[in-house]
Amino acid sequence: ARDSSLTIIVVGASGDLARNKIFPALFALFYDDQLPQNFTAFGYARSPMTDEELRTTISKTLTCRVDKSENCNEKMSQFLKRCFYQSGQYSSEEHFSELDDRIREKEGGKTSNRLYYLAVPPTQFVDVVRCASRRSSSENGWTRMIVEKPFGRDSESSSKLTLDLKQHLTEDQIFRIDHHLGEELFESLLVLRFSNLVFEPLWSRNYIRNVQLIFSQDFGTEGRGRYFDNYGIIRDVMQNHLLQLLALFAMEPPVTLDAEDIRNEKVKVLRSIKPVSLDDVVTGQYKGYTGGNMSVPGYTDDPAVSKHSLTPTFAAAILSINNPRWDGVPFMMVAGKALHSSRAEIRVQFRHVPGNLYNRKPGANLDDATNELVIRVQPDETVYLKINNKVPGLGMRLDCSDLNLLSKSRYPGEVPDAYERLLLDAMRGERRLFIRSDELDAAWSVFTPLLNELEEKKIAPELYPYGSEGPVGVHYLGAKYNIRCEDSGY
Ligand code: NAP
Repeated sequence: ARDSSLTIIVVGASGDLARNKIFPALFALFYDDQLPQNFTAFGYARSPMTDEELRTTISKTLTCRVDKSENCNEKMSQFLKRCFYQSGQYSSEEHFSELDDRIREKEGGKTSNRLYYLAVPPTQFVDVVRCASRRSSSENGWTRMIVEKPFGRDSESSSKLTLDLKQHLTEDQIFRIDHHLGEELFESLLVLRFSNLVFEPLWSRNYIRNVQLIFSQDFGTEGRGRYFDNYGIIRDVMQNHLLQLLALFAMEPPVTLDAEDIRNEKVKVLRSIKPVSLDDVVTGQYKGYTGGNMSVPGYTDDPAVSKHSLTPTFAAAILSINNPRWDGVPFMMVAGKALHSSRAEIRVQFRHVPGNLYNRKPGANLDDATNELVIRVQPDETVYLKINNKVPGLGMRLDCSDLNLLSKSRYPGEVPDAYERLLLDAMRGERRLFIRSDELDAAWSVFTPLLNELEEKKIAPELYPYGSEGPVGVHYLGAKYNIRCEDSGY
């Protein structure tokens, strides 16, 4: 609206996340005319920098959409003119008052709405929230704060962080971001489930034999060893991204698509998951190798990581949901770094066809006749269903082919970056893709006992070569639950 203003304050503006993700996402929204007319962006951090220096730094990472880049330079300079920088300490209320003065100047007396993005290490969150809410929040509009994971290391530290944030903010003001929630997969999963008659009736223990949730990367922790060693793959990927995915996959149909209705269902299903048992987990750590003219580093070759680190860079875990819909269905999560491919997908293996007429020969493998649904977000977005059909010709030969539901060729347009969607939602007050406190508590309860046990018992991860399929133990774990892993190719 013309009589209100929006200021986005990127705290930690001198860092990687701000430069590579947040400012480019803001520019993409600006380019698509998604930002309000009276929009200003402020960078805030301790490093001394002028407005001009900030503009020069961020201008290097801004890009225009490939399909409509005619007025790119003009739009960029319009955007950069609205970006400013204020230097200050994260724990100084005085410095935030100075920021407030500058923001007011730009607001020019209009209704003030302020969105803070905390792109700083979590150790700084509480200070920033305290200072910003006391000295630099809106007096006549809204103030919201986006925080990035990690939200603690376990149930206890996460609850403490929530309590600390809530001393200064209401639940409505906190937007906990898990940037994978901004990816297409999350929305398309809901559409697939709830707007097609053919899937939802099958979405239960009656027809689904197991579900795999896979997140693999073909690179190691290069450059992020110090951060990663304090967290490990279970905290970095499983407790948040994969568990969120599982919750959306397995939740009951929400009353409406409103944020609170969806989040209520997610909390319910998360609370029905049994804490993961150590017997149902395989952990791994990648090792380097030198061969031919190639040499790749192992995890503990990183100078920031102890040579004796037991931090897992790979984990596979079986989760069970204790409710009528999913009783007895194993959900296998697999996440790892330095594997042979980068992939993010859900694989749903259906039960075999009862009394299958085509599978009665002695020695026939019942598995040959099962269907499998693959919902993939990386390397490219696609959904396909493995279907058995007849090979044309005189004989009766069956073949398994893919029924492709969605692919790049059908929807060739550029998919917006996850941060664009999330920033836009936060500006609009849409909370569907942000994590509520009780959801976070429930998510930590699933993994905290396991994390404690792994650390107390000093469980050594199984070593696997960089670029391989991960520890062999994962296949034994799969076999224990009758999960076929060979197609999954971690
Ligand atoms: P970063 O570059 O390490 O830090 C951002 C800024 O915070 C730095 O430029 C620095 O600014 C300040 N800072 C760094 N260490 C500090 C310390 N010990 N004490 C006080 N200030 C410090 O981090 P980032 O990669 O931009 O990420 C920011 C946050 O987002 C982190 O919590 C990270 O875990 C999370 N995150 C990042 C990514 C990513 O893609 N990079 C992805 C997911 C989540 P000044 O020195 O100028 O004050």
